[in-house]
Amino acid sequence: MSTDPLVDRGAIVEAVRLACGLCETVQASLVTAETLKKKDRCPVTVADYGSQAVICHALDEAYPGLPIVGEEDAAALREPDNAELRSRVESHVSNVCSSLRGDAVLAAIDRGNHDASASRYWTLDPIDGTKGFLRGEQYAVALALIEEGVVQLGILGCPNLPHANGAGCLFIAQRGGGAFTAPLTDVTALTAIHTDDISDPSAARFCESVESGHSSHSHSAQVAQRLGVTTDPVRMDSQCKYGAVARGDASIYMRLPTRKDYEERIWDHAAGAIVIEEAGGRVSDVHGKPLDFSQGTTLKNNAGVIATNAPLHNQVLAAVKMVLEA
Ligand code: AMP
Ligand code: MG
Repeated sequence: MSTDPLVDRGAIVEAVRLACGLCETVQASLVTAETLKKKDRCPVTVADYGSQAVICHALDEAYPGLPIVGEEDAAALREPDNAELRSRVESHVSNVCSSLRGDAVLAAIDRGNHDASASRYWTLDPIDGTKGFLRGEQYAVALALIEEGVVQLGILGCPNLPHANGAGCLFIAQRGGGAFTAPLTDVTALTAIHTDDISDPSAARFCESVESGHSSHSHSAQVAQRLGVTTDPVRMDSQCKYGAVARGDASIYMRLPTRKDYEERIWDHAAGAIVIEEAGGRVSDVHGKPLDFSQGTTLKNNAGVIATNAPLHNQVLAAVKMVLEA
């Protein structure tokens, strides 16, 4: 079966659902406190590789020939010292995808090994928010299709973000086609989502990273104060923040640079950004510039991210400007 992902998205949705299942199984096996204490990153590694294998395999079967720009590659798994890790990855993968076993798992992971030079390609973050994953909190499986530097399709699997009809949710958006959510337990039950219409910032909630190394909490607190935001920030890991704003749980997502030289990665924002835009919101960098996905694997022409509902974008940008220039 070969088709175009913009015509038939079924295989992508199924791939993301399976990858989410794999991640949930691994996360459920974590003894969180123990893992954190030992700073054992192995579980996230197993789930990262496994998620990438499942999705790359499915994309390659359904839409062959489209390059995949993924976060991981299998080089480390091929090292003899990592035989045990490799067998754990293979067993998790074959549990959710019985036709994928042995060396084919490594080959599938390596299908995500492309750079972002093609005119049309996928970008994949097999687990976005690895710190949240390890804490037993929010993370996302994030996949997007980029064409000529513009995101055309985005899908987010968020296993720990509750959906009204079941645990975990999926977000999907196609350029010009609106944004939708479904419970991960029934990914065909799509319903349209919209950003909220709050125009008074004092009534708005904002979200940001849990990790202060990824987004400046002190600057966002100053922006919130200037805007008169009265509630505490909603802190969560991963692109779940984009989903939260897209469905109106919050009105503002601020990602304020902690370092001048950091370039945001395309797979950390492509899927989330189109979900908010198609839900009626606005997404830019901290200077109000559109996110520029035409520059390879990073957003080198941008700094940070400001994603909001439509009415608040200009007000938030003005407050951000005052704080960052102070
Ligand atoms: P979040 O869960 O929103 O905190 O974002 C997680 C992502 O932040 C990871 O996938 C990393 O790629 C990315 N990241 C790592 N270092 C930084 C940094 N200094 N500034 C912004 N993002 C970062
Ligand atoms: Mg990430």
